[in-house]
Amino acid sequence: MRNYENYVLGNWIKGDGEGTPLFNAITGEQIGTASSKGLDFSKIMDYARMTGGPALRKMTFQERGLMLKALALHLHSIKNKFYALSAKTGATKIDSWIDIEGGIGNVFTNASLRKQFPDLPYHVEGEMAPLSKNGTFIGHHIMTPKQGVAIHINAFNFPIWGMLEKIAVNLMAGVPAIVKPATLTCFLTEMMVREIVDSEILPKGSLQLICGSARGIINNVETGDIVTFTGSALTGKMLKSNPRLIEKAVSFNMEADSLNCSVLGEDAVPGTAEFDLFIKEVQKEMTIKAGQKCTAVRRIIVPEKLVEDVQICLGKRLSKTTIGDPSVEGVRMGSLAGKEQLKEVSDKVKQLAQSQDIIFGNLEEFEVTGADKNKGAFISPILFINDDPFNKTDCHNVEAFGPVSTIIPYKTIDEAIELAKMGKGSLVCSIVTNNMKIAEEFVLGAASMHGRILVLNEACSKESTGHGSPMPLLTHGGPGRAGGGEEMGGIRGIKHYLQRTAIQGHPTTITALTKQYQVGAEQNTDGPHTFRKHFEEIEIGDTVITDTHLVTLDNIEDFAELSGDKFYAHMDENSLDGTIFTERVAHGYFIMSKAAGLFVDPAKGPVLLNYGIDECRFTKPVYPGMTVGVRFTAKEKISQEKREDDDIAKGIVKFLVDVYDDEGETVMLATILTMVKKLDQK
Ligand code: NAP
Repeated sequence: MRNYENYVLGNWIKGDGEGTPLFNAITGEQIGTASSKGLDFSKIMDYARMTGGPALRKMTFQERGLMLKALALHLHSIKNKFYALSAKTGATKIDSWIDIEGGIGNVFTNASLRKQFPDLPYHVEGEMAPLSKNGTFIGHHIMTPKQGVAIHINAFNFPIWGMLEKIAVNLMAGVPAIVKPATLTCFLTEMMVREIVDSEILPKGSLQLICGSARGIINNVETGDIVTFTGSALTGKMLKSNPRLIEKAVSFNMEADSLNCSVLGEDAVPGTAEFDLFIKEVQKEMTIKAGQKCTAVRRIIVPEKLVEDVQICLGKRLSKTTIGDPSVEGVRMGSLAGKEQLKEVSDKVKQLAQSQDIIFGNLEEFEVTGADKNKGAFISPILFINDDPFNKTDCHNVEAFGPVSTIIPYKTIDEAIELAKMGKGSLVCSIVTNNMKIAEEFVLGAASMHGRILVLNEACSKESTGHGSPMPLLTHGGPGRAGGGEEMGGIRGIKHYLQRTAIQGHPTTITALTKQYQVGAEQNTDGPHTFRKHFEEIEIGDTVITDTHLVTLDNIEDFAELSGDKFYAHMDENSLDGTIFTERVAHGYFIMSKAAGLFVDPAKGPVLLNYGIDECRFTKPVYPGMTVGVRFTAKEKISQEKREDDDIAKGIVKFLVDVYDDEGETVMLATILTMVKKLDQK
C-alpha cells in the first residue's frame, strides 16, 4: 500500500492524516491512500507564479515547443511502464492506449504548433491596423503569457490524457500549472508526474500535483490565474460561482457532462456500408472505457422505420462484449473506475428506467471473466428504448456515466435536429449518412448546440478518428450543458493563456515591438546587399533599393509568349472598353518576376532558396513606358532547428517586396519566403 504523494514547492510531500483510500477497480483491493491535508494552496500557487512562470516566460515559443517535444519523446520511450497501473483503473489495453498514448500524442501535436508562433516569448497576432492618413500612426496586437498559474481540476476517467492535453497548452503559452486529478484515479497521474519531474525537462515550478482533495484552492486565485475544470456539471457550477473568481476576474473554463448523440441518416438503411458503420461506432462509443468518456454516445437517434433493425443489430454486437479483468485474453470491457461510480451509474440507470424500457443488459445478471463480479466495479452495457422522446425527457437530462445509452426514434430530419438539441448543449454529435443534403441540413441545424460534429460515411470511415476522439487541433468543448467552453484545441487553446494587448504608435515603434517590419517604418539601406548576409547578420528593416526597369510592350509580348498567358487585357488594346485599363497592361506576374530580377543578388551566398510567396497584391496597373523599382526589406526572421546533426543551420527570412513606379507609388506588394544559412553552423 502506498501513500500517494503531492508534488509541490519542488518536493514530494505526503498529506497529513490517513487520506482517502484508493482501490483497484478490478479486484476491489485497496492499493493506497492520498491526502492533501496540511498543504498550503496559497504558497503552492505563489511558487508557480514566482518560480515556474518567470522561467517559462523567458523561453520563446520555439524553445517551449522543443521542450514539449522532448517531453513527449521521453514519455513515449517509457510508455509501457504505465499500462499495468492503468489496468487498475478498470481500463482495457485500448482504453489505456487512449489515455496514455493519446495523451502523449497530444503533447507532440501541441509542440508542433510552435511553428505557427513567432520565435519570441510572446505572440504577434494578425495584421497591422492602419489608423492614420499619412501612415505615421498604426495599431497591432501582441499576446503575452499571463503571469498567473493554470489550475487544472480534472475528472477521474482520463488520469493521464486529462493532464497532458491541458498542460501541453499552458506550457506552450509560457504559463505554469497545478494539476489536480480526481482523487479516485490519481495514482496513475502521480506515476506520470514522477517521470516528468525525474526527466528534468520542465523548468522548476512549472508543474505541481495535488493528489488529494483540492477543496479551497479557488479561494486563493489572483488576477492572471486561469482555472480549467473537467467533471460533473454540478461540481463545475459550484466552483464557477465562487465569488473570488469574479472578484479577481479569473477565467473559468468548464468541460462538463454532456448527453452526446449519434444520428442515423434516413438513407443508411440495412445493407448499406453506413448502417454497419453506425452500429459499429455506437457500440464502440458505448463500451470503450466502459462508457466513462465525456464524448460517449448517450442518445442514439434513429429513423422510426429503422428502430427495430438498429435494436437487433446493436443488441447482437453488445452481446459480444466480454466483461472482466482486462488482462485476460478476449476481455473487451473492463470495469467502472470504482464502487462509488458503480453505485452512481446504477442509480442513474434506475432513474432512466422509470420513463423508458431496457432492451439490452441487466444491472444484476451478467457474466464477468477473470475477476470477482462482486469485488470489482463491473457493469453490463445497458441499452434503453424511448418511445416518446419529446415527452419522456429523462434521456435528454440524466447522464449515466457508464456504458448506458438510449435509442430514440425520429420521423423527419427536423425532428432529429430538435432531439439532438434537447441535450441542451453537447461536446459532440455524429451523423452517419452518405447523403450530402441530409448532412448539410443536420449539421447546419444542430451546430449551434454542439462543439464538434462528425459526418461519417464509407468514404472517410477508414481514416476517421471517430465520434469519441477530441482532436488536439480542433475545438474541444461545447455550449450549454457541456460547460460553454471552447478554449481548448489548437492555437486558440494556447491563446487562452495569453493576454491580448492592442499596441499603437509609429510604424518604427511597432516594428521594434513586433519584430516584424511595418510599412512606413525606418529602413536601413547601409551595408551590403541582404543576400550577402547570414541569418544572424540580417536586421529587420534592412533594405535594398534596386535599379529601375522601363516596362515595354515587348516585355508584355515576350512574357505572354513565354508563359502562355494571353489574357485580352495584356494582348488586345481594342478590348479594353468597360474595363479599368486604359492601355494594354503588364502581367502582374511579369512585375513579380521582374522584381525578382531586380532584387536578387545572383552570386552564391548565404541565401539557400526561395520557397514561396505569402501575400501578393497588384495594387496599380503598370503600362508600357512606366518605370518600376523595388524596395526590398527584411520583414521577419524565424530561426529553424536542425533535424539532423549534419543539416545546414538556417532560418526563414521573410522579405517585403514593394514595387513602385515613377511617381513613387506602390504597384505591387508581396512577402517572399527565403531560407538563409546561419553563420553558426553548430
Ligand atoms: P466531479 O465529481 O465533478 O469531480 C471533478 C473534479 O473536481 C475532481 O478532480 C474533484 O476532486 C474536483 N472537485 C470536486 N469538488 C471540488 C472542490 N470543491 N474544489 C476543487 N476541486 C473539486 O467529476 P468526476 O466524477 O471526477 O467526473 C465525471 C464527470 O465528468 C462526468 O459527469 C463526465 O461527463 C464529466 N466529464 C466531462 C468531460 C468533458 O470534457 N466535458 C471529460 C471527462 C469527464 P476529487 O476527486 O478530489 O473530489
